Amino acid sequence: MGIRENSQKLLKELPAGVELVAAAKTRTAEEVMAAVEAGIKIIGENYIQEAEAIYPAVGNKARWHFIGHLQKNKVKKAVKLFDMIETVDSVELAQEIDRRCAQTGKAMPVLVEINSGREKQKAGVLPEKAEELIKAISVLPNIKLMGLMTMGPRFGNPEDSRPYFVTTKKIFERIKALAIANVEMKYLSMGMTNSYRVALEEGANLVRIGTLIFGERD
Ligand SMILES: *Cc1c(COP(=O)(O)O)cnc(C)c1O
Repeated sequence: MGIRENSQKLLKELPAGVELVAAAKTRTAEEVMAAVEAGIKIIGENYIQEAEAIYPAVGNKARWHFIGHLQKNKVKKAVKLFDMIETVDSVELAQEIDRRCAQTGKAMPVLVEINSGREKQKAGVLPEKAEELIKAISVLPNIKLMGLMTMGPRFGNPEDSRPYFVTTKKIFERIKALAIANVEMKYLSMGMTNSYRVALEEGANLVRIGTLIFGERD
């Protein structure tokens, strides 16, 4: 099946209230446009350079989510291109986003990335550090904290991802109950091609899917 059919099938399958991010790393502008023309509203990019390369073709025909590891020296470009940054995991990164947004007058929607698998080499804040980080980010005037994102460890069997989604959902609910000023716990971004069905069962309302839309990456 092609990108158009894959996209339409997936959009039909997702329950109401769930938003789909097409994870577009390594894909061409033509491939991304095929997804957008099939009804996909949000493009996810891991790299600034890739986003810049396809931006002229796609522009504001979709919204743009940054889903990769954001280096501080790339923040200036990121806040120009993206409508949401899903991968904030330190106060320093949040402060840099805040500083750059102050210059453009835009408040950047962000998600805090949780290292739900407690993997040493992985990005994200550890579960027990999430509340402290969120409180520190909440006072930054040019950032709008809107929820959480997690990757979780990679598994062949999607069932193995479930505990990491459960952990992240628990943090989401706990933070929501605290009703912190300037924090709106609206989005829970979890699940990829392999695991999105399990993620939906555990409360995800934003799923990031690449392979199922665009095919295997080379
Ligand atoms: C690549 C990627 C995805 C999608 O992965 P697939 O397995 O191709 O669906 C989701 N989230 C992030 C952060 C990614 O880098």
